[in-house]
Amino acid sequence: MNARLILIPLLMMMLAHAGPALAQDKGTVDAKPLPPLANPNDPKIGAKQLFARKLLPSSGPPKVIGAYNKGCVAGAAQMPRNGDTWQVMRLSRNRYWGYPGTIALLKRLATNVHKDTGWPGILVGDIGQPRGGPALSGHASHQIGLDADIWLTPMPDHRLSREEREEMSATMMVREDRLDVDPKAWTPQHWMLLRDAAQEPGVQRIFVNAAIKKALCREAKGDRSWLAKIRPWYGHDYHFHIRMRCPAGSSECKGQSDQGGGEGCNASDLAYWFKDSIIHPKPEPEPKEPPKPKVGITLAQLPKACRAVLNAPDAKR
Ligand SMILES: [Zn+2]
Repeated sequence: MNARLILIPLLMMMLAHAGPALAQDKGTVDAKPLPPLANPNDPKIGAKQLFARKLLPSSGPPKVIGAYNKGCVAGAAQMPRNGDTWQVMRLSRNRYWGYPGTIALLKRLATNVHKDTGWPGILVGDIGQPRGGPALSGHASHQIGLDADIWLTPMPDHRLSREEREEMSATMMVREDRLDVDPKAWTPQHWMLLRDAAQEPGVQRIFVNAAIKKALCREAKGDRSWLAKIRPWYGHDYHFHIRMRCPAGSSECKGQSDQGGGEGCNASDLAYWFKDSIIHPKPEPEPKEPPKPKVGITLAQLPKACRAVLNAPDAKR
């Protein structure tokens, strides 16, 4: 893959708080542990370097601190790798941790969507790191245990091997011209899966590709009020992104407001996303030198309480 092809999604990720999570990115079964940092107390070091090296959640009660793209989570819970109606993908990324309410939601959704639609089960992509915080790759958000990516691929009929979980590709749902979903991939169960997720009261927003929003607007039957929570966003061709609201009583969680404005299905709501400049973005000029790796936000730029979360002892397994 040439540098330009890599750079475009990277730039979009930096622009977008809920950037594409690249469900099609492959992992590896023999991930090497990160080497220790020469000077972990260097104030200029990226917080992502520190949070990515924590392999377990902090001990103590769960707490959400900060904003989706600038925060951390204490006392996170693990999404079990297998359930009757779910499997966790890309285990090598170690991002199957979240606020306990998020984990409960994913389990409930997996059960409900199977019962309601016959969807065999959900494939869970990135949730967050054991203590949240910024990650070395992938997202700007997913930092406080309230964001989760779910593949738009139905769960296969067998327990996936370690290799399959790292290597298997998610299904591209968007048609080649980017103006609608691909009828070969899209099924009525897809809109019902998104409906079941959006009808959860704890879910505040769901990000999907605009072609998927367009299909939902066209096909959703019955009560359609949940469509208000479904927002078109860059990427999200292979997975959708669930964002939960701040849990009640979490005074340090910096949430967002609910969106008003109805279903978001008018032509004018979607026009921006189908402009030629958006569906076929101009390639960035090739950089003369390879770009310097970005430090990203430092520990001092995160809420103060995140330092304590980082330094807390590991939760008992
Ligand atoms: Zn995501």
